Amino acid sequence: LRLPHGKVTKVCCIGAGYVGGPTSAVMANKNPDLQVTVVDLSIKRIEAWKSDQLPIYEPGLLDAVKLARDGDGGRKPNLFFSTDVDTAVREAELILVSVNTPTKITGTGAGRASELSYFESAVRTIAEVATTDKIIVEKSTVPCRTAENMREILSAIGHPGVNFEILSNPEFLAEGTAIPDLMEPDRILIGSLNTAAGLSAAAALADVYAAWVPRENIITMNTFSSELAKLAANALLAQRISSINALSAVCEATGADIEEVSYAVGLDTRIGRKMLKASVGFGGSCFKKDVLSLAYISETLHLPEVAAYWRSVVDINEYQKDRFTKRIIQCLFNSLKNKKIAILGFAYKKDTGDTRESAAITVVESLVAEDAKLSIYDPRVEEEQVWSDLKQTHIGLPKMKENVTLCSSVYDACADSHAVIILTEWDDTSSGMPRMDWAHVASVMRRPMFVFDGRNVVDKSKLEDLGFRVECIGKPGSA
Ligand code: NAD
Repeated sequence: LRLPHGKVTKVCCIGAGYVGGPTSAVMANKNPDLQVTVVDLSIKRIEAWKSDQLPIYEPGLLDAVKLARDGDGGRKPNLFFSTDVDTAVREAELILVSVNTPTKITGTGAGRASELSYFESAVRTIAEVATTDKIIVEKSTVPCRTAENMREILSAIGHPGVNFEILSNPEFLAEGTAIPDLMEPDRILIGSLNTAAGLSAAAALADVYAAWVPRENIITMNTFSSELAKLAANALLAQRISSINALSAVCEATGADIEEVSYAVGLDTRIGRKMLKASVGFGGSCFKKDVLSLAYISETLHLPEVAAYWRSVVDINEYQKDRFTKRIIQCLFNSLKNKKIAILGFAYKKDTGDTRESAAITVVESLVAEDAKLSIYDPRVEEEQVWSDLKQTHIGLPKMKENVTLCSSVYDACADSHAVIILTEWDDTSSGMPRMDWAHVASVMRRPMFVFDGRNVVDKSKLEDLGFRVECIGKPGSA
């Protein structure tokens, strides 16, 4: 593998999404001498990255982008956005492939494969246009052994004499905290072949990260371990949420309180406190997709019991959303017909405008099926996004439009409503969400007043004092 300058000087990131954009911004910020070009097929996305209205919302992202993109004082701009994929690929020594790898819609078993067509298409482009040696980095989350398939494509269609070295470097950032996660990652994982070229490619990528990540946190291993470690991390995180959510059902049936149970078990240092918050269920583009991908891989490896085990993590998540919705219907006297209900939060979690796999979509679908009239408020999600998500439900857009109103204030959403449902844990420290004046909410609602807290964020006894009946996850309901 030949690097003309003996090190990486130009990086191309294919895919300007939730991972590609923030990762490239931090990489460029921390390596002022590195030229980082982010490319995407979407003109709209690239134009947005060039403006101050970035295509995604992440706290601290705009500042990080501006510093590297626009330069500052003595600092020259070193972050570029472009739709010219071929040129950026041709010029770079290191290419991050950070395209989407969503779940395939087809499949009948316990698992669902990842759709790798975008990934393969990016790899084919690299093979076709590269005229000098390249280090190609799997940044996208991909099934274990994908590097092997890439190698086959590259050697079949790459130019003769051009060498490609493939690395796995999965991304562990979480949406909502992408910038701090990238600035201070728990670890950077680099998987490579155990050959001289593989190890030198891994060392070149490690040098880029070492500009801000302590060397001891940059871990190298074999490619397949690194690929699988990413799926394993998401599967274990999702499994923890499903475990605590399964326990929340036991709490509701027994009178135990999930917050107390979670606190008690979390104090055990072997278990730890994080990711033990009961909720209406996890969402986001990754957890479900990656757990199903792991189940699918297990099936193809003739390990049906393993596939069934991971599948149950997703099943519990669906069960949790269903349980929550049924409880709402039951509390509202088993009839939602024409009742106005406020939905607070549509994003899958706070501090993001991302709605992929958001529990809100499922809950809204089930409530509209019962003919409820919903008013939705979310401080970050674009209206266009909500309609696009609702359009894809079984209900279809015309009925959704009849039954759903999007509100620009939390109080408009609550006015005249029978119930308030909290689906995103927006808090008043997050920009955009006002501190809720529950006394005011009470003054504009119908009686009796219900709050269904899908995120366990409200002060239950304070709300009960104001006359609300409050139903939380994994806690006894209001008397
Ligand atoms: P995304 O959908 O936000 O962005 C992907 C981008 O790739 C899109 O803008 C798309 O237009 C572009 N693209 C697709 N094919 C292309 C091609 N051939 N050439 C140029 N551009 C192309 O996806 P994301 O959320 O950034 O996720 C990317 C990958 O990272 C996925 O594999 C995901 O599983 C993984 N990941 C995501 C997160 C997260 O929090 N979103 C965290 C860790 C890992």
